Amino acid sequence: MSKYEYQTEVSQLLDLMIHSLYSNKEIFLRELVSNASDALDKLNYLTLTNDKFKELKYEPRIDIKIDEKNKTLTISDTGIGMSKDELKKNLGTIAKSGTKSFVEKLSGDAKKDSQLIGQFGVGFYSAFMVAEKIEVLSKKAGSKTANLWISSGGSEYEIKEAKKETHGTEITLHLRDGEEEFLQEYRIRSIIEKYSNHIPFAIYLEKEEEKEGKTQKVIEQINKASALWRLPKSKISDEEYKDFYKTISHDNEDPILYIHTKAEGTLEYTTLFYIPKSAPFDLFRVDYQSGIKLYVKRVFITDDDKELLPTYLRFVRGIVDVEDLPLNVSREILQQNAILSKVKKASVKKILTELKKLKGSDFKKYLEFYETFGKVLKEGIMSEFEHKDLLLDLLLFKSNKREELVDFETYIKDMKEDQKEIYYITGEDANMLKSSPLLESFNEKGIEVLLMDDDVDAIVAPNIHKYKEKELKAVNSTEVEESDEEKIKEAKEKFAEILVKMKEILKDSVKDVKITTRLKLSPAVLVYDKDDPDFAMQQMLKQMGQSDLPKIKPILEINPDHEIFKNILEKKALGKLDTVAHTLLDLAKLSEGMKIEDPNSFSKRIYDMLSKTI
Ligand code: ADP
Repeated sequence: MSKYEYQTEVSQLLDLMIHSLYSNKEIFLRELVSNASDALDKLNYLTLTNDKFKELKYEPRIDIKIDEKNKTLTISDTGIGMSKDELKKNLGTIAKSGTKSFVEKLSGDAKKDSQLIGQFGVGFYSAFMVAEKIEVLSKKAGSKTANLWISSGGSEYEIKEAKKETHGTEITLHLRDGEEEFLQEYRIRSIIEKYSNHIPFAIYLEKEEEKEGKTQKVIEQINKASALWRLPKSKISDEEYKDFYKTISHDNEDPILYIHTKAEGTLEYTTLFYIPKSAPFDLFRVDYQSGIKLYVKRVFITDDDKELLPTYLRFVRGIVDVEDLPLNVSREILQQNAILSKVKKASVKKILTELKKLKGSDFKKYLEFYETFGKVLKEGIMSEFEHKDLLLDLLLFKSNKREELVDFETYIKDMKEDQKEIYYITGEDANMLKSSPLLESFNEKGIEVLLMDDDVDAIVAPNIHKYKEKELKAVNSTEVEESDEEKIKEAKEKFAEILVKMKEILKDSVKDVKITTRLKLSPAVLVYDKDDPDFAMQQMLKQMGQSDLPKIKPILEINPDHEIFKNILEKKALGKLDTVAHTLLDLAKLSEGMKIEDPNSFSKRIYDMLSKTI
């Protein structure tokens, strides 16, 4: 017998599980049954693909045994089983990436934490909510030895060699005082019916019954064992869809949406997709786990194929079950399989279409979805070519003209008669963008500008290019200027000396100094050349690790109607242009949310001016 220490995060998690998470304890059974079902799936796959296991004869099943006298509940399966090393790895650590950051996020607030744990799916460990001691007896299929894993929580567990006849895993829970409800037959039945009715394997309940002084064993199947997704829609209730979601996703919340599709004809397949309410904990990790399980003719193949849906739909959970693939298809072959890529395309279209429907039918619910997953969805702009229009229809933006979020369709519908383009501005904060000098002429004319303040927008927006023949234009580009040529020509001549001098003074900071007619109130503004990345984009590229960006200089545009410039001419104050130029540049930067290069000399200039005014 040997003792082992739990990985620190596991002890922390167990501690939390036992002391703070009292809500919804029944899910432990769902988790254990789901693990058993996965283990059966894995063995099933091996018997189809691996010669070593082809001859293996066994009945795939899950058994639950209630022992009232000893206060134990046992869940066993005839699945793949675990070797000693696997016991240590699977039940002593949390192998999933991101565990540390996950445990750190736990707050000690039971309600919040149980939701987080739901998203994380702690699975097996949840059994410690009801058990003071857990024994796991497991024998790996194809192996001769079995091992017994024992733990009472805390910081350590034991493993010793043991005897077990058949391969598979048997988990015995020694229930805590007060948890006797889980020894009651009706309670177990109702939990199984709720969550595990439609896993594809039979679950049996064994009970000892006293009859005329003798103990008798009664065994009975307690689930339907029908793969839910294969049933006709009309036979599945809303409740059943939702409960099944919880079983496959380990989530404790209802999904926002489910989409069940059965395709017949040249390509036969069934898909059942769910959109979760909360983001999975690994949504923004490169090594996120796929939420889609692939089946071929009801036989589980893999839950680790990230190609089944595009990455921008990685929050979708569910099942893809294909008819026309050989059962022994290897996981490698799946990667470039033509059938799967057709299923993928059709699935993307279906999911996007259903989301669009939701947007039309229940905007409040759609908003909830969009707040959680909108950012991920936007990534699709860079990669989704086939259904780009559909994807664009799902996007929502803030605007200078309305309080609520707006989509492209509404934007176009409300466009000014002579307006040909869709205008947007990117930056850190919508409120700041709203009062940007760049919007002055738009506001005056009542033209709508989309305020894109999500950090991905800086990259996404320039890649949208068009929505229904309408081009998107950034208002901080030199391209966007309904210029009054005549007026500009006049002003250029009038202020020629000022322009030349300012350009000389600011030559290290700006590409050019120009006259503009786009400003109504502010004296100056920074814009970017048509092909230069703007400030928001530069920020984004930096965040993404591009540190070797060349310095991209903006263009300073000045407003010829502003008092400042008129006064300089009238009062022949060209000598003060140095202070004016630097201050205008700094102020233009500030209004864009940029840092100014020398805040001290900026402050000094302002103090001087204040003193003179007073
Ligand atoms: P998850 O199921 O989310 O991976 P768990 O903590 O529930 O997390 O389980 C950890 C791992 O332990 C599983 O991924 C699986 O490899 C293994 N495991 C758990 N239960 C069983 C079982 N009944 N049979 C075989 N392996 C199991």
